[in-house]
Order: sequence, then C-alpha cells, then structure tokens
Amino acid sequence: MTDRVACSFCNQITCGGLRIHGEVICPTCEERLARLGVDDEDYNQWIAALRTLWAKWLKET
Ligand SMILES: [Zn+2]
Repeated sequence: MTDRVACSFCNQITCGGLRIHGEVICPTCEERLARLGVDDEDYNQWIAALRTLWAKWLKET
C-alpha cells in the first residue's frame, strides 16, 4: 500500500516520511532539521514551523 501524504513543512508529497502525531516530515526536511543551526538564515522559519506543530501536539495530549 502506498501512502502518499504531504510533508507538514514543505508540502511536498512524500511516501513513508517520518510521522509524528499524524504530521509527516519528508526525508529532506528531516535531514534539514537535523542539521539546523541557530546561525542559519532560515532558522527562524523552521522554528516557527515547529512551534506550530508543537502547539497542535500539545492540544492533542
Ligand atoms: Zn518536507
């Protein structure tokens, strides 16, 4: 069964990405997040995206 879902960060359709609480993170974003550093230009964007997800997860628990 192929399960095609959109990545929660980049909206790319991905198969078998990492799933956390129903949100999907594609391999590209997962790797990007793993390498994310505070000096990165897009650091704040990533943190903002993560905060949005965290807020959702907190509501669910
Ligand atoms: Zn992605």
